[in-house]
Amino acid sequence: MNHSEKSMDTIIAYTKRKGFVYQGSEIYDGLAGVYDFGPHGAVLLNNLKDYFRKKTVQEKRDFFEIDSAMFKNPAVWDASGHTSGFSDPLADCRVCQNRIRVDKELEKVGIEADEKMTDKEINTLFDSKRDEIKCYKCGSTDFSEARSFNLLVKSNLGDFTAEGSDPVYLPGEACQGIYLNYKNVVDSLHPKIPFGIAQIGKAFRNEISPRQFLFRTREFEQADTQYFVKPGTNKDHFDKIRQERFDWYLDLGVNKDNLQWSQHDNLVFYASDAWDIEYNYPSYGYDEVEGVHDRTDYDLSQHTKHSGVDLSFNDNGEKFIPYIIETSMGMGRLFLAVLSEAYDEEEVGTEEKSDVRVVLRLKPFLSPVQIAILPLMKKDGLSEMALDIYRELNSQFRCTYDESGSVGKRYRRADEVGTKWCVTVDYESKEDATVTVRERDSMEQVRMPISELDNYFTEQIKQSYT
Ligand code: ATP
Repeated sequence: MNHSEKSMDTIIAYTKRKGFVYQGSEIYDGLAGVYDFGPHGAVLLNNLKDYFRKKTVQEKRDFFEIDSAMFKNPAVWDASGHTSGFSDPLADCRVCQNRIRVDKELEKVGIEADEKMTDKEINTLFDSKRDEIKCYKCGSTDFSEARSFNLLVKSNLGDFTAEGSDPVYLPGEACQGIYLNYKNVVDSLHPKIPFGIAQIGKAFRNEISPRQFLFRTREFEQADTQYFVKPGTNKDHFDKIRQERFDWYLDLGVNKDNLQWSQHDNLVFYASDAWDIEYNYPSYGYDEVEGVHDRTDYDLSQHTKHSGVDLSFNDNGEKFIPYIIETSMGMGRLFLAVLSEAYDEEEVGTEEKSDVRVVLRLKPFLSPVQIAILPLMKKDGLSEMALDIYRELNSQFRCTYDESGSVGKRYRRADEVGTKWCVTVDYESKEDATVTVRERDSMEQVRMPISELDNYFTEQIKQSYT
C-alpha cells in the first residue's frame, strides 16, 4: 500500500491486536498519555535501543554510554532553567473547558510559533488567528488568553507528610544526567576532546493534551547523545552529526521520502543552530522525531555557575568550557515511525479468490520474531523434528514454534508480526534432512539442508544491517 493510504487508527488497532502497545492501566479505563509495550513491542523497542547503542557507542571510539538516576538534586532543574521556563502556552475553551496548546494550534493554521515565546508574543499571534482556531472537542472559537503552564512533574522523596518538604522533579529531559556526569567521565576515563556521551533515559512531561498515541505521551524515553567539542569547531561537527543522524533512519529502513529537515526559526537565546528531523506520520503528517542542537557552552556554564564546580576542560593546558552538539530522539516517536513505515497491507491470491495480507516489513535485525518453525503436520514425528530445529536455532535467533492451523494461516500470522522467515518441516525433511525456507516479503520458498540454516540466517541478518 502507498504510505499516503496508511491510517494511524488502523496502526493503533494493529499494535494492540498483535501485542505491541497497550493503553497504560487499561482495566482502570487507562491513564491519558501513558502507554505500555506488550511482548512484541518490548522486543522491538529493545532492538531499536540495541541498534542505537551499536551505532552511537559500540562502533565509535570516542563515545561512552551512561545510565544516570532519574531523581536529581532539585537545584539541577533550576540551573537548567526548567523550573522557571519549561512551559507550554495553553488556553481554555470557554464553552467546554478543554485546554489547547496554542503554539501547536497556531502551527496548524500556518503561523510559526513555539513554546519558547513569551506570553505576550504568543497572545499577539493568537489574537490574529482566533477565528481560525477551533476547539477540537466542541468546535468553539471562544478561548481564554494563552498562559504558560510548567511541564515538570513533581514528586516527593523521604518525608511524604511534611508540608514544607522540597519537591523533587521527575526528569523533564533525560540529557541533564549527561551534563551532571561529564566531569566524572572526564576524571575517570580521561577522554581526548572531542568526545561524546550517550544515554537512553526516561523523561516525564505534564503534556496537557496527549492525544496522538505514542507521539505525545507524559512518560517517554529519549535516546540522547551529547558531543563535547572545542569552541570554534562546533559548526563542522554539527554538520557531520546532522548527516549521521539522518542516515540512521535510512539504515532502519525508513524511506527518505518520508523524512525531512526543519530548521528552528526561533532559537533559544543560547543556541547557535537547531534542526529537527521530521517523519511523515500517517494521519498526523510531518512532525519531529529528533532534535539536533548546537547548544554552545550553555549547559556546562550553567551547571558551573549553580554548583560552584568548575566544569571546564583542560586540553593540554588550554582550559575552556566545551561546546555541546546534542541529538535527542524520542524512542516512542521512533518506534511509531519504524512501525508506520513497515506496516503494509497487500492483495494476494488469485483473481477469483483474493485476500489481504498484513505484513510488517521490518529489517530482520529489528523483527520481534525472526524465524518461525512450522511442522507441516503434528503427527508422524514432524513436530518432534521441528521442535529440535526450534531449540537449535532459538539460542541464536528470535524464534517461535507454531503448529496450529493450516500452513497458510501460520504464514499469515508470521507475516503480520514481521517474522522474516518461516521454516517448514515436511515429509521430505525426514528423508533427506532438508526444509523449506519461505521469505516474508517475496513469499518465495527455497529448499535447504537443516545443517545450513544457522549460517544462512546469520549471513542474511548481517547483510540487513546496511
Ligand atoms: P515538541 O515540540 O513536539 O513538544 P520538543 O521540541 O519539546 O517536542 P525536545 O524537548 O527537543 O522536544 O525533546 C527531544 C525529543 O523527545 C523530541 O524530538 C521527541 O522525539 C521526544 N519527545 C518530546 N516530548 C515528547 C512527548 N511528550 N512524547 C513523546 N516524545 C516526546
